[in-house]
Amino acid sequence: MNMWSILERIAGKRLFMDSKKKAIISFTFDDAPVSSFTMGGKILEDNGFRGTYYIAAELLERLTEIGQIAGLKTITEFRKRGHEIANHTYGHINCEKSGPVRVIRSIQENRKMLDGIVSSNFSYPFGAIDSQARFATRLCSTSARGISPGINRGIINLMDLKAVRIYSRSGIDRCLGLVRECAALGGWLIFYTHDVCDSPSDFGCTPEQFREVVAAASNRKISVLTVQKAMEIL
Ligand SMILES: [Zn+2]
Repeated sequence: MNMWSILERIAGKRLFMDSKKKAIISFTFDDAPVSSFTMGGKILEDNGFRGTYYIAAELLERLTEIGQIAGLKTITEFRKRGHEIANHTYGHINCEKSGPVRVIRSIQENRKMLDGIVSSNFSYPFGAIDSQARFATRLCSTSARGISPGINRGIINLMDLKAVRIYSRSGIDRCLGLVRECAALGGWLIFYTHDVCDSPSDFGCTPEQFREVVAAASNRKISVLTVQKAMEIL
């Protein structure tokens, strides 16, 4: 065990979630491609839900492999409609082995660029996490979402929240199975994707797939909440 693992253990932010009492699902999007708002956000709103958008401000308005990234106007508009804007570092940096100082600086820089609209919840770009990154995010974030699959229940590590991808190339059977499991056994199931469009990238899904997972969540006695709202009731 190295020094950072020890520090992370001491400073680690864990809580116990009694899954018998709660079943929560959060839908999250990384990197803010336009389609995640106009299609993903719309599907959520059609069901009365809101999502969490993890945004790296340096990417705004760029054309990327996941499509056109939204601008501040769209982001602000969706926040007004009740969606959560969350932190994903400023430069979409790989937090693994970046060192705590660089991670904290990039989170703070992003907070400055998205001043007044960004929450203190965070997700790791590329899902790249190590004990230094967990320690750094612990110092400046309320929660941090990783990409270890599964449902959060029992003792939850808030600096490495489990999350399940909704990617076209993986299919959605596993997602639907986990929605059923969450309804039956409780816990906090967090989904993530990027673009939501008819010809999605390797990191996105189609509107039909997204709609099916959202419909599965809305058909059951599950609370669909942004990460921020889920954190408030946990
Ligand atoms: Zn990202």
